[in-house]
Amino acid sequence: CCAMLNRLRDAWAAYRSVAIIYRIAVAFVLGSVCGLAVGAPAAQLEPLGTLFVRLLKMIIIPVVVFTLLMGARQLSPTRIGKIGGEVIALYLGTTAVAIAIGLLAGNLINPGVGLEVADAAVETTQAPDLGTVLMNVVPTNPIGAMANGDVLPTIFFTIALGISFAILQDEFEPGTPVHDGAQAVFKIAEAGSEAMFNVVWGVMEYGVIGVFALMATTFGEAGVDAILPFAKLIGALALAVVLHIGVTYLFVIQWGLLRESPRAFLAGAKEAMVTALSIRSSSGTLPVTMNNADENFGIDEEVYSFSLPLGATINMDGTAMYQGVAAIFAANLVGQTLTLAEQATVIVTALLASVGTAGVPGSGLIMLTLVLTQLGLPLEVVGMVAGVDPILDRLRTMNNVTGDLAVTTLVADWNDRIDRENTVWERTDD
Ligand code: ASP
Repeated sequence: CCAMLNRLRDAWAAYRSVAIIYRIAVAFVLGSVCGLAVGAPAAQLEPLGTLFVRLLKMIIIPVVVFTLLMGARQLSPTRIGKIGGEVIALYLGTTAVAIAIGLLAGNLINPGVGLEVADAAVETTQAPDLGTVLMNVVPTNPIGAMANGDVLPTIFFTIALGISFAILQDEFEPGTPVHDGAQAVFKIAEAGSEAMFNVVWGVMEYGVIGVFALMATTFGEAGVDAILPFAKLIGALALAVVLHIGVTYLFVIQWGLLRESPRAFLAGAKEAMVTALSIRSSSGTLPVTMNNADENFGIDEEVYSFSLPLGATINMDGTAMYQGVAAIFAANLVGQTLTLAEQATVIVTALLASVGTAGVPGSGLIMLTLVLTQLGLPLEVVGMVAGVDPILDRLRTMNNVTGDLAVTTLVADWNDRIDRENTVWERTDD
């Protein structure tokens, strides 16, 4: 019996040694196959999927509060200066453009049409107009917004609070109650977001079962027709990434504003891009990104040592556009089309959510819960797209890192902080 116990323990250890997102991908495939094989009765598994959705809902508000406090700490105006201001403005501006491109690609390819989620009984409320949407970003009662799970006003308030604490921390001397108190808030936020990530990992462990159940239910009801929508989802994100890199970074920023050849930029950024594609983490890629900025682009260290770590935390163009594509996917699953006001909501929510997304594998998937909650779309979609996340995450992380470098080269050039000698700019001049 001991031998069997040992074997079980080994099997469990082997199971746990596989990265969670790959186990989820396998559950996605097995669940889909099970659904296809069993057909409609597979819907019996639905409660297991519902449990996963409840777990996701549980983590939303604490994740927003802790991670955005951390994100906002970087935005203290006292620390930023002119170059920093330009970097942040461009980071936010390019991210907004990225989401618009994501929505465009989503509207063009329309992933998710023809696939219905099990409980499509989403109450169709009267869609509010754009003015109301924007007005509602500001909570009249922040605690009430949190208690109700209202994502956007919670995000807004948390960022404002975080920036205020960051200012206090910078303005008061260490040792004063205000400085130390503000610092304590950030320490708690840091511990809190670490703790929430642990909770997230726990939820994801269960996600293996949850995703299996969701996919079995979906394929049990839709049959093979369910394959195409997922392929389209990947295609839509790929299209958005290609458009954003091609048009925004290469054409507008490099060629239009910098007057440099797009080829030079790609040659200089390629190591960072390939690394991001393979390890799915902006933070993990940071040493390579910094090396590219230094050696390939000849950017002054003072600029990139600020802009690139900041970018790896708050500038997530790929993640944000993914939220746009996924929102359209989710809307299609419940047979809705996003109104213009709702698409504007996506832009605002995804922009702010991407500031709070950590540059680690898979975090964009968790932040998707924010956008879906804000739009009242089913969180089942998170479980469903989790299965293809290893692919989506690669694409968006590559885009995230490329965006950091594109903005950094532009701001460095504006401020005369590039030494072009022996760099890609010189090598690709002719
Ligand atoms: N993995 C991404 C990054 O590190 C974040 C995400 O999951 O979207 O940039």
